[in-house]
Amino acid sequence: MKTFDVPVNYRSPLISAVKKKRKEADRMKKDFTPTLLDFGPLRIYLARHFGFCYGVENAIDIAFRTVAENPERRIFLLSEMIHNPQVNADLQAAGVRFLQDTKGNPIFPFESLGADDIVLIPAFGTTLEIEKRLNDIGIRTEHYNTTCPFVEKVWNRSEGIAQKGYSIIIHGKPRHEETRATFSHAAKDAPSVVVKDMAQTIELARYISGEKEAPYFYEEFKGQYSEGFNVERDLQRIGVVNQTTMLATDTQAIADYLKDVMIRKFSLDESNVREHFADTRDTLCYATNDNQSAVQGLLDAPADLAIVVGGYNSSNTSHLVELCEEKLPTFFISDEAKLLSKNTVFHYNFHTGIELVTENYLPGHAPVSVLITSGASCPDAVVEGVIRRLLSFYSGSKTVEEVAAGF
Ligand code: SF4
Repeated sequence: MKTFDVPVNYRSPLISAVKKKRKEADRMKKDFTPTLLDFGPLRIYLARHFGFCYGVENAIDIAFRTVAENPERRIFLLSEMIHNPQVNADLQAAGVRFLQDTKGNPIFPFESLGADDIVLIPAFGTTLEIEKRLNDIGIRTEHYNTTCPFVEKVWNRSEGIAQKGYSIIIHGKPRHEETRATFSHAAKDAPSVVVKDMAQTIELARYISGEKEAPYFYEEFKGQYSEGFNVERDLQRIGVVNQTTMLATDTQAIADYLKDVMIRKFSLDESNVREHFADTRDTLCYATNDNQSAVQGLLDAPADLAIVVGGYNSSNTSHLVELCEEKLPTFFISDEAKLLSKNTVFHYNFHTGIELVTENYLPGHAPVSVLITSGASCPDAVVEGVIRRLLSFYSGSKTVEEVAAGF
């Protein structure tokens, strides 16, 4: 796989050594068991796969190179390049400005941009409408486009479905940049609608089956369907694509459910189901699949708690949290500063969107076993910082350097 030039301060010598050793021993990525880092009173189980993915490294490489090569020009990012606070703060410190927040609300007016300005398209991609607005100003977006190829693959998949006459159902978070971008690209080719979860899918199915009357759809799915969408006409032939970072099991369940609905509505079977339901496998990216599978392997390890590190607005990270939560106490933190002391942790509840404080999160017995993973936009250096912070709470532990020497 292509390698990228990523600032060295995002790397961790310990984690690089662990990943290198695991990769050499398992080139086909069949082994999802975690790596044990035994510090004595603290035992860390590191997931087999976590941290920067292809798309994130690509975006970081392009962004910092653009800054270095264009000292005289104003450089903007459409919105957060990736959902990681450290990386975005570093880019801002280097002089990069954001045009919009993550929900698409303006921060810097487009009207103040000129043809000489550089606008970086984030890894999530952007909508055709925004691309056109920038091009109309004279800004060449293709030169500074960090859209992940795995996101573009989803756009290609939806185009393929559209060409065969299917409408497109997008499983994703309606306000997430990537889903907005995918929706825009899909809607260019076919009637499209976004479903955020199984509950919404079940409601959509009630329009397909005719159980619910069409006019209610336009209120219920407001902001989630393409212009001119006609419930009676456009839900006869459908195909499903998804945001690349959704939970694999959710996406599968949604596709299976809709397929079943079409089979029942049109009295189909496996031989002719394609007449109404496109043959789509999920469009999750390799990093989402690897990281979620690695969490399944991680959860087999005997542990007291799990720590998941990443940006609080990171979709892929929240799904890793969701998987861990099913099994044991889980703390979603953005960096080591959230581990206030051995007794107190600040952590994010992504279900409510509120940061909580929990006391006595580390058990009193020894050794303590902690599962650790991180999202695809989290630097390994941040994970190492979390490990070092935990170690500082335990006297008589081996050092990071001593454990790293074993890899
Ligand atoms: S999580 Fe997947 S789709 Fe998103 S940037 Fe990384 S590789 Fe690309």
